[in-house]
Amino acid sequence: SHALVWLRRDLRLEDNAALFAALKAARQVYCSFVFDTDILAPLPRADRRVEFIHASVLALDADLREAAKGHGAADAGLVVRHGAAVDEIVRVATALGVQAVYASHDAEPAALARDAKVRGALADKGIVLHTVKDHVIFERDEVLTQTGNPYSVFTPYKNAWLKKVTPFYLSAWPVERYVERLAALPPALRQPLPSLADLGFEPSGLAQLRLGLGASGGRAMLAEFLERIDHYGQGRDFPAIKAPSYLGVHLRFGTVSIRRCAREAWQRTQAGSRGAEVWLSELIWRDFYHQILHHHPRVVGHAFKPEYDAIKWEHGKQADARFAAWCEGRTGYPLVDAGMLQLRKTGYMHNRLRMVTACFLVKDLGLDWRRGEAWFAQHLNDFDLAANNGGWQWAASTGCDAQPYFRIFNPVSQSEKFDPDGKFIKRYLPQLAALPAPAIHAPWRAKPMELIEANVVLGKDYPEPIIDHDEARKLTLERFGVAKAKV
Ligand code: FAD
Repeated sequence: SHALVWLRRDLRLEDNAALFAALKAARQVYCSFVFDTDILAPLPRADRRVEFIHASVLALDADLREAAKGHGAADAGLVVRHGAAVDEIVRVATALGVQAVYASHDAEPAALARDAKVRGALADKGIVLHTVKDHVIFERDEVLTQTGNPYSVFTPYKNAWLKKVTPFYLSAWPVERYVERLAALPPALRQPLPSLADLGFEPSGLAQLRLGLGASGGRAMLAEFLERIDHYGQGRDFPAIKAPSYLGVHLRFGTVSIRRCAREAWQRTQAGSRGAEVWLSELIWRDFYHQILHHHPRVVGHAFKPEYDAIKWEHGKQADARFAAWCEGRTGYPLVDAGMLQLRKTGYMHNRLRMVTACFLVKDLGLDWRRGEAWFAQHLNDFDLAANNGGWQWAASTGCDAQPYFRIFNPVSQSEKFDPDGKFIKRYLPQLAALPAPAIHAPWRAKPMELIEANVVLGKDYPEPIIDHDEARKLTLERFGVAKAKV
């Protein structure tokens, strides 16, 4: 029998669940990737994610040939198509004469709708679409409360997750065991892979980021992180410190295996590493939001707690101008601005700053969290619908297990606490480089002499704050209070 693997968020050979399922079931296995025009069409022409995927797809093709070379199937490359997934997958599957297509689960509503269409179109040709879990450790109904309901609070979910996990759930799918089943492509399907330009995209400057690309890049970044994982717990809240793994984008596109990450963290946790324990907990947050999206798809566009859909957000010209200032890092609050500039310049934003900037948008500027969510979705390399929506609803206090609405980060105290010397701020706001702490956290409070010595003219070199935090705080308490009282 023949099978086709349709790779999507699992751009690696190692420990690939869909590939393993296909190899186990069929004697001849082909692999394909579709640059889906439905997804690509609305994106800007220079998009780091598209470039990351493109590089990872080229690497995957090379890995596939290398793996198949061992048994003489050097023409076992990846079939890469550019078009609507539903058309392309059916075309490739019929051209190859396969009986089944294998893919990994994708829990996003748009992906589920796409997969339903593909499943139907394949069924019309007598081909079955099998999908399997790959992207998370536990999904759907695998971790439920004792009464059989999904969890909506993290800590009990985490405890249940930790109770359920065993080496079985963390072990790799042994793809290499059946590697000789990777089949050579028929000549008609051996086409050169499209360049970025062929796809209609321009380089996005990804190369300057020193981000490892493809599965080998992911492996190297994980190996480097594991050497410093013990310090993750102490360092992870300080954006100037190299403490996080920066693996988000690799987890998003499956260029590292979540099982590998969780296994490494779990084993080190067992051996007493506090850093590994904290990191494992972050990976569990990832599973948590994933199952929230599965059980509550309405969170896309709506508050998890429906009473908060009644909140009246600021709108109009002033609100739009403030939103633009937030997006462009011109709020006058250095930590917020440095975070927003990090996002624009690199596609990455430190987790502490995601919390600070999101809270600032919602609770200082009074703007709808969905506007910020959409901005992050456009710019984050590791953008993931479940995690981004979860993060935003957490910060906006509208989500499951969110911070209570009266907990409002003070952007100046956050700055003093998590970037005490302003080291991170200076990286993204070099015009403030000569301003000493504490003035760097709130330049409008600096002594005139400090500004003169640092060569900073407020309103020219760096903006005055666009909002007064204490006043904004009062308005926010009212705004949320009214919505709550309506229930
Ligand atoms: P590390 O600190 O090394 O963590 C390792 C991995 O754990 C991450 O790569 C990620 O896969 C997972 N993880 C960590 N924290 C969380 C979390 N709170 N929720 C879910 N998964 C988590 N994460 C995304 O992957 N995509 C997003 O689009 C996203 N948007 C966010 C938006 C907001 C407003 C907030 C507050 C958080 C968001 N996060 C998102 C979560 C978190 O900020 C990032 O996962 C993390 O900063 C990525 O950097 P890292 O890979 O160096 O993480």
